[in-house]
Amino acid sequence: MSDPQIITVPGAVDLHVHLREPSTNKAETISSGTKAALLGGFVAICDMPNNPGSPTWTLDRLQAKQKIIEEKAYIPVATYAGSQPESDNIDELEKMAVSAIGLKLYGGTTTGNDKDYSPADFLTILKKWKQVAPNKPIMLHSGKDNLEEFIKLIVANSGQRLHVCHVNSPDDVHIISKYKKHSLPITCGVCPHHLFMASHDVKSRGWFARMKPPLISQDKAEELLEMLASGQIDIVETDHAPHSIESKMATGEENPEGIDNPSHKTCYGVPGLEFALPLLFYQMRQGRLTLERIIDATSTKPAKIIGLKISGRTKVTWQLKDYRINNEKTQTLSGSGWTPYLGMLASGKVKEVTIGGKTLVRGGKITSKYPKVINAGDEI
Ligand SMILES: [Zn+2]
Repeated sequence: MSDPQIITVPGAVDLHVHLREPSTNKAETISSGTKAALLGGFVAICDMPNNPGSPTWTLDRLQAKQKIIEEKAYIPVATYAGSQPESDNIDELEKMAVSAIGLKLYGGTTTGNDKDYSPADFLTILKKWKQVAPNKPIMLHSGKDNLEEFIKLIVANSGQRLHVCHVNSPDDVHIISKYKKHSLPITCGVCPHHLFMASHDVKSRGWFARMKPPLISQDKAEELLEMLASGQIDIVETDHAPHSIESKMATGEENPEGIDNPSHKTCYGVPGLEFALPLLFYQMRQGRLTLERIIDATSTKPAKIIGLKISGRTKVTWQLKDYRINNEKTQTLSGSGWTPYLGMLASGKVKEVTIGGKTLVRGGKITSKYPKVINAGDEI
């Protein structure tokens, strides 16, 4: 076992979490999810709009979520607005644009959305968002073959900032790089599960390894890690999307044919906030990522994408020491109570967290909370 090493970093910002509240999915709450984020080294996270049963498509729902954040969150949280071709909420976009940090669009299949769209289906939504929030990014979950068309429509034609969420294919990164060369405002992110798990995991873990977009082959996962190391992939985002163990088990039983049965119940997603940084630090200690790149990919760049400023009064101190993720009961903090990273090697425990000068963690123990809805231009 290597010697412990103390490092202090600016604190991570996760642009992609699903805190599940309010919704019919009870596996996570804003309280439990932000607690996991705090002890996972995050100082701000951004909550996605596709809450099961209660998507954030109206100002009322956005404000209901923000109210819970102001009461229950352990760390600052930003919230996205959502809009789909069938959500019929164009008039709500202008109202939501004021306090939402960006707009999330689902161009491909996932929880609450069962098809791949044609980018042209989003024309009215895109036009409206450009008009009411020209500086707030569009976060895109692209479909199987529609990424380039979306890029042309959003970035190349209108110059709106686009972040391509959770890339799971080196080919998609190449497409994005092509447009970056023209200095267009486009970025992309990768999830820890697409780096450290692979498609064959579905065979042994069933629904506990099913997410959208799906896991990829080992060689491609390793290529993505290299693309993250080189900066070709801009950021790491967890896509923390918890489901209870019971729901994952039940979905397996209800869908014996996996996802080949078109009427299958969906239960996509895995929790990821606790171990994202420790998994990256372990790779750093193996020489595959630099500390500078980890800080850039988890803090500097994500903050820049949403227009958040991280002051010198916000920092996280880690004690880096390798360990094995071997106990879900004691090591996981997400309300879902499990992790897809069981058995993996990681490095680092959070010792101190200070946000905006306020100490939230001391000696590895939570001492305070910072419940606040954040928006573009805010400083923490
Ligand atoms: Zn997601």
